[in-house]
Amino acid sequence: MTEYWVSQGNKWCDLCKIFISNNPFSIRTHELGKRHKDNVTQRLSTMQKDGAAKEKEQQQAAKALQLIEAKAKKSYQKDLENNQRNTDGDSSAAPGEGLFL
Ligand SMILES: [Zn+2]
Repeated sequence: MTEYWVSQGNKWCDLCKIFISNNPFSIRTHELGKRHKDNVTQRLSTMQKDGAAKEKEQQQAAKALQLIEAKAKKSYQKDLENNQRNTDGDSSAAPGEGLFL
């Protein structure tokens, strides 16, 4: 997952935001270094946190949407019933009632 691009004999470490010498020894030394490892750990935990938060958000959004749809359907049916019952013009039903969670 570490990505490098080569430029004029140097490699760019995207995690550490630095160039390192483009030879196997330097690269290996860099990848085994504390700074790089810290950055890898940080990047991983950030990604996991983001992923978990996003998943939770999506689940909550889906749940909220289901609730809204269910309530809207119920409210719509209630409106229909009210309309059928109150054909004489008695509009006591509050508009949008039950739409909010
Ligand atoms: Zn690095």
